[in-house]
Amino acid sequence: MIYLGIDIGGTNLKAGLVDDSGKIVDSQSSATPTNLDDFSLGLRQLISNLLQKTDVISGVGIGCKGIINPVTTEVVTCPGTFKFLEGHRLADFIEGLFPPNIPIIADNDARVALVGEVVWGAAKNAQNALMLTLGTGVGGAILAEGKIVRGQSGVAGHLGHITIEPNGEMCICGNRGCLETVFSARAIEAAALSAIHRGCESILTTQFATNYEKLTCLDVFTAANAGDLMAKSIVNEAIRRLGAAIAGLFHIFDPELIIIGGQIAEAGDALFIPLNKEISWRIKGLIKHPARIVLPKISDKAGIVGAVALLVQM
Ligand SMILES: [Zn+2]
Repeated sequence: MIYLGIDIGGTNLKAGLVDDSGKIVDSQSSATPTNLDDFSLGLRQLISNLLQKTDVISGVGIGCKGIINPVTTEVVTCPGTFKFLEGHRLADFIEGLFPPNIPIIADNDARVALVGEVVWGAAKNAQNALMLTLGTGVGGAILAEGKIVRGQSGVAGHLGHITIEPNGEMCICGNRGCLETVFSARAIEAAALSAIHRGCESILTTQFATNYEKLTCLDVFTAANAGDLMAKSIVNEAIRRLGAAIAGLFHIFDPELIIIGGQIAEAGDALFIPLNKEISWRIKGLIKHPARIVLPKISDKAGIVGAVALLVQM
């Protein structure tokens, strides 16, 4: 069987044909649409191109940022690039491209990523697992007692919005001091930029004082790895807080594993070694086995495979 997976991500629009073993047969992506008309046109074009390569589609799975009603596919909340989708049903944009009886299901992108890991990846056979995506922001999803947790209004699993600092920085969600404001690409970049502006001694100040817009979170990790004291201080503090949040998650959900994906996970040992240390001492009183923190197994970062896993899991 061949399914169609669609990812409405941070910036791009991607779609792919996926078989029932989770393998991408073909995929396409398009430049960022900036309004509803371009979105609709772009998405229909992507799908039409893919449909020329297959006879039958068994279902359509869609992953999208924000809060999505999985049954109606309505985008309830979608901060950022695709805010113009709020109030629209994703299924309406692709109407007429498939026979009317084809199942179409949509969900939040981090939840979709976790479902992908449950069906084909690192959380296969797990009953309790969490997903954290450390990117521009922090996404999250929960598998508890074998079920993906959605909550009363679809908000459950927004692990990036756990309050870490009661009086901390303003968060995109309206709260203050969420995990996302202390550990995300934007938060780490902001801490580094602020130190660069103050003229703190660092490789980063030398490299980026005159082109600060080029600084990325991974530059801060690289500088920290190279022994730069300012970068180390920023990274260590961010990891300490992320570790504290994750320790809390272990105490609440007692998961078999926590999967950490997203662009910051590419920092590798520079992140995972100190993070594991931070988590271990915090949870050892109640949890008597080592914390399993792993990378995603599904290498498709776009989330097309996870979107299809929604259908397979139904
Ligand atoms: Zn928040």
